[in-house]
Amino acid sequence: MGLLSVIIPAYNEEKNIDRTSKKISDLLVKNNINYEILFINDGSKDETWVEILKACDRDENIQGINFSRNFGKESAIFAGLESSRGDCCAVIDCDLQHPPEKLVEMYSLWKQGYEVVEGVKKSRGKEGNLYKGFSKLFYKIISSLSGIDMHNASDYKLLDRKAVNVLINIKEKHLFFRALSSWIGFKSIQIYYDVNDREIGETKWTPIKLIKYAISNITSFSTAPMQVVTIFGVLFLIFSIGLGIQSLYYNFIGKAKEGFTTVIMLLLIIGSIIMISLGIIGYYISKIYEEIKGRPNYIISNIVNKK
Ligand code: UDP
Ligand code: MG
Repeated sequence: MGLLSVIIPAYNEEKNIDRTSKKISDLLVKNNINYEILFINDGSKDETWVEILKACDRDENIQGINFSRNFGKESAIFAGLESSRGDCCAVIDCDLQHPPEKLVEMYSLWKQGYEVVEGVKKSRGKEGNLYKGFSKLFYKIISSLSGIDMHNASDYKLLDRKAVNVLINIKEKHLFFRALSSWIGFKSIQIYYDVNDREIGETKWTPIKLIKYAISNITSFSTAPMQVVTIFGVLFLIFSIGLGIQSLYYNFIGKAKEGFTTVIMLLLIIGSIIMISLGIIGYYISKIYEEIKGRPNYIISNIVNKK
C-alpha cells in the first residue's frame, strides 16, 4: 500500500543516473516506502539512456522512458506522471539539487492526508546575482498575474493520485508544472528545503532559454500583456484629443505652430507602440496556433520495465 512513484527528468545526466537512483532507492528502502522510480530521458546527447538501462537491469523498481528527441523538462515530467502507477508521485531533479531526504517527509505528510506537498526553496544555492534578480522579477510578475504565490516555487513536489489524474487530463499543450500543480487546488502544504549545489554536470539553462521560458509561462497564465496594449491605446487617445484641440485652436486663431519635432516624435512613439502591440498579439495568436495543431507534447521511442 502507498506506492510512491519518483519521477526524474534527465537530460545529459550520464554521471548522475547511477548515483541518484542508488541514493533514492537506498533511502526509500531504509524508510520502508514502497516505490518505483521513473527516469525520463529527454533526448540526451550523451550516454544517459545507457545508464538508465543499466539502472533498470539492476533494480526492477526502476522504469526508463526514452523520448525520441529533447522535448523539455515540463514534457518529461508529464510523461512520467502519465506512466506512473503510484498512489502518490514525487518529481525531483536528477542532479540531487533537491535534497532526496525530503521525500520521506513529503511522503509522511501525504500519509497524513495532504494531497499536494510543495517544495519551496529556502535558499537558492549557488547562483549569479543577475540570475537571482531575473528570477525574482519573473516570479513577481507571474505571482501577481496568476494570483498564485510562486516565490521560490520549484518543481520538487509530491502529488496524490487524485491531483496527478487531474494534471494529466488537462488538455492544454503548454504546461507549466510548477504553477499548474498549485492552480489545481486540493489540500496542500509547503515544506522548505535548501537547494544543494550541482555536483556533476552543468545546468541546462542559458539566458536565452530562460527568457523564452519566462515569456512563454507568463503568457500561458495571463493575458495581461494584451491588456497593456489597450491601456496604451487609451492613454494615447486622451493625449491626442488634448493635442488635437490645441492644434485646432492654434489653427483657428491663425498661429499654427510649425511643430515639426512633435510630429516626428509622435510618429516614432506611436509607430513603435503599434509594432510592439502587434508583436504581443502575434505571440498570443501563435500560441493559439500551437494549441490548435494539437501535436503531442512528447514522443516516446521506448519504455523499459513498464509494469
Ligand atoms: N532537464 C530535462 N530536459 C531539459 C533540461 C533539463 O529533463 O531540456 C532536467 C535535468 O536533467 C534536471 C532538471 O531538468 O534533472 C533540472 O535541470 P537543471 O539542473 O539544468 O536546472 P537548474 O537546477 O539549473 O534549474
Ligand atoms: Mg539543477
